[in-house]
Amino acid sequence: MLSSANQVAKGNQKASAATTMDSILIAPHFHNEQAAYDYIEARLWPNGPVCPHCGNANPKRVYTLKGKTTRIGLRKCAECKKPFNVKLGTLFEGSHCPLHIWLQAIQLMYSSKQYISSRQLQSAVSVSKRAAWVLVHRIRGSLGSKDDLFSAPANGGIKTVEVDKSSARRER
Ligand SMILES: [Zn+2]
Repeated sequence: MLSSANQVAKGNQKASAATTMDSILIAPHFHNEQAAYDYIEARLWPNGPVCPHCGNANPKRVYTLKGKTTRIGLRKCAECKKPFNVKLGTLFEGSHCPLHIWLQAIQLMYSSKQYISSRQLQSAVSVSKRAAWVLVHRIRGSLGSKDDLFSAPANGGIKTVEVDKSSARRER
């Protein structure tokens, strides 16, 4: 698994990247936006949503906004009356790229020991040049600071979870 991920960086080919993506990105949160939100929320909010505006963490004082036109993951704080989602205050903030694409990019970059360029990521996860640049730079910026990927609570980061999983598989 790891060696195939490394081929992405070595191969610099679309076919190689596509093969790797198929093999390591099976889970629903890599393909379904609701699943991606669920996955990230479970890690960033292990005890339920926390309002990033006022810190309110009372589950009875945070409402999930639902409706046909409501964006996925939108909450409203009953204390400060402000809307928020799990992206606020994290590396996902302000990004228009779907979260499941973010998760694909994170998984790809973390599972490869080789340098992955913006161009390689662009073809691997099928996003625009600009979007790929943002993904690469934000994720790479988080790579150096071990637990800061989601500015999450201890053990809450996807990085820990995913890297442990892939390295465990490799060792077994
Ligand atoms: Zn609030």
